[in-house]
Amino acid sequence: MIPANYHTHTHFCDGKNSPEELVQAAIRLGCPAIGFSGHSHTPFDGSFCMSREDTRVYIDEVRGLQKKYGDKIKILLGIEQDYDSPESTAGYDYVIGSVHYVKKDGQYLSVDESRESQIAIAEQFYGGDFYSFAEDYYRAVADVYRKTRCQIIGHFDLIAKFNRSGDLFDPKHPRYQAAAQKALDALLETPAVLEVNTGAMARGYTTEPYPSKDILTRWLAAGKEVIFSSDCHDADNLLFGYDAYEAHVAACRK
Ligand SMILES: [Zn+2]
Ligand SMILES: [Zn+2]
Repeated sequence: MIPANYHTHTHFCDGKNSPEELVQAAIRLGCPAIGFSGHSHTPFDGSFCMSREDTRVYIDEVRGLQKKYGDKIKILLGIEQDYDSPESTAGYDYVIGSVHYVKKDGQYLSVDESRESQIAIAEQFYGGDFYSFAEDYYRAVADVYRKTRCQIIGHFDLIAKFNRSGDLFDPKHPRYQAAAQKALDALLETPAVLEVNTGAMARGYTTEPYPSKDILTRWLAAGKEVIFSSDCHDADNLLFGYDAYEAHVAACRK
């Protein structure tokens, strides 16, 4: 497969490296292309999103690298547009649409901050019912294309990030299945491609990429396309898990 990654974070959001360090890493790895996808600004969370000022510098820097390294590698300027981000996506080469929060009782609650925060959200906002939390999450996922007009659907089942041992919720539970299926059905009607994302594997949270095998199987059975990504936050992991990707997708193609 072509070793190119289009889901790449830099130090302008929560990544470790500068855009130039990542371009150089991609060239060293023989990538024909690299796409940057900084976290879009949100007014309610500065912990991992780019500020407006950083977004301007991010755009200028990546556009500058396109000129500097244009004869060596194709560089794309993208954005990982959060579902709740009010920023415009005009001017980017492509958009990844992602849900990182659920909005509940007027608050934006982070879906992927930590296992402890997920437990606290389920307790405080959903009376301990994790499936209600998941239903709200998937309602936003179902709507992510309409809201962001993304070309790529980011980490479809991010809410499963901390459920490695299966003790937060049962992924086979009818309510979880119904919520995920409804989101999948809505997105099957769009032109967006689904991302197979090893970001949580690279950071040791999961042993399989997003989305789960049953979701990926249903997506592929509908004749839809996928794109591989490492959701890179560290140049050392730019192509994390790429060697295992083809077998993983092939196993889900029936
Ligand atoms: Zn994301
Ligand atoms: Zn990301």
